[in-house]
Amino acid sequence: MDVSPQRLDALLTQTPTSLFLDGQWRQASSGARFAVKNPATEETLASVASAGADDARAAMDAAASAQDSWGRTPSRQRAEILRRGFDLVQDHAEQLALLMTLEMGKPLVQSQGEVVYGGEFLRWFSEEAVRDHGRYADTPEGTLRMLVTRKPVGPCLLITPWNFPLAMATRKVAPALAAGCTMILKPAALTPLTTLYLTALLVEAGLPAGVLNVLPTDTPAAVSEPLLADPRLRKISFTGSTAVGKHLMNQATENVLRTSMELGGNGPLIVFEDADLDKAVAGALAAKMRNMGEACTAANRILVHESVAEEFTAKLAQRMSALKVGSGLEEGVDVGPLIDAKACASVAELVEDAVQRGAEVVLGGGAVEGPGHFFAPTLLRNVSPDARVVKEEIFGPVAPVLTFGNEDEAVAMANATEYGLASYVFTENISRGLRIGDRIDFGLLGLNVGVISNAAAPFGGVKQSGLGREGGAEGLAEYTSTQYIGIESPWSS
Ligand code: NAD
Repeated sequence: MDVSPQRLDALLTQTPTSLFLDGQWRQASSGARFAVKNPATEETLASVASAGADDARAAMDAAASAQDSWGRTPSRQRAEILRRGFDLVQDHAEQLALLMTLEMGKPLVQSQGEVVYGGEFLRWFSEEAVRDHGRYADTPEGTLRMLVTRKPVGPCLLITPWNFPLAMATRKVAPALAAGCTMILKPAALTPLTTLYLTALLVEAGLPAGVLNVLPTDTPAAVSEPLLADPRLRKISFTGSTAVGKHLMNQATENVLRTSMELGGNGPLIVFEDADLDKAVAGALAAKMRNMGEACTAANRILVHESVAEEFTAKLAQRMSALKVGSGLEEGVDVGPLIDAKACASVAELVEDAVQRGAEVVLGGGAVEGPGHFFAPTLLRNVSPDARVVKEEIFGPVAPVLTFGNEDEAVAMANATEYGLASYVFTENISRGLRIGDRIDFGLLGLNVGVISNAAAPFGGVKQSGLGREGGAEGLAEYTSTQYIGIESPWSS
């Protein structure tokens, strides 16, 4: 792919940097803007309009007035817009991938992977849009006919994080469009460019004015608070940290909003003594190092049976030492920069804490000198279960290895967290794998595989990892509300 400075400059010039409100690109009413930086170079990529409370209210007006006609637009028409959106994402795959690497840092090949994954939500929900059937049945007593229909929930507020700038947007926007909801999308301030580029593609695909409103901002509460207080808003779907999610859930109680929360994780990856160790190492590498470890689905804790721990750790160290760290634009890079200096400092703190509690650094151990926020792939062993790295979401390329003696102990260790999003199990005994699925409290389980996200699958967590599911048929249901009409039985008179 051409990654010459001329091409990147041309791409940045073409990328919108305004708010998208009621079908128009606009400046923020206050005139405020914020800088978007490249985490690999710390250079400014663009200056983007920063929405405030007045813009939020204008977006709410637009979403509320478009709701009725969009909700009644035939599902085939909505599906066709989504499908055109999917095609346009394919046509602009290089541009989207480059923007993601520029503003978020992940290696280009992983950004291309996200274009495939993220684009797929548009295609999947274009197919689901026309198959969202209700029910027609008799009540058991035969006294009534039941007509059960699904209606769009209504205007939604969608808030996305920086770590998957395309997929986290399409995973919400596509089912909302398919269900007939209008929306206000607020991307993360660190990575708004991919979302703004996607918005331009969806407009080109034929979205009517007011259906999708996009409000980048570096003062997110100024946008979310007036929206959450507005009775016309009917749903919030949030992906981000558990702390911010809880705060928004509190605010959402005022108008009793439908709420979908995709929050933090602390995923265990369990390697049993009967695992295929090469497969387990490959799975651990994918689940831990993809996206520089900045994924809610990351394997945060690697739990290995004591009889194979040494061999597994040696194999993992060998694979990790071969990982190339550098700018995501460079050919062959596996690990790009972390998102910012704060992220680097907090990952370093977790490693220091683990070492103070007795962990041994097998590989890496700290930040790599800048410019750019690079952190060396780090492998820790003999990690104490009390170490912060075991209890908190790491969000960096750090793999702590802990050992267990038997299945009960592995299950207890895996469940010893307030989170419950992704988990991984490696065993050649499929009954054992399924039994572990029954016993661990996680919304997602990868059995002998390190990456399981798919547009057709219901993605989401339990406990403090969240509420609701995205993707699959479940993902569409999140944007519909059920109405039951009881009809006098035609046999009652
Ligand atoms: P974050 O919570 O800091 O921010 C997420 C979004 O919320 C951003 O758009 C941000 O601008 C906005 N925000 C922050 N404070 C706000 C406020 N007071 N009011 C309204 N909006 C506010 O999270 P992050 O650092 O962007 O993302 C990383 C987190 O996201 C991790 O915890 C990760 O596990 C989680 N995540 C979860 C999933 C999932 O599907 N479960 C997927 C990706 C990321």
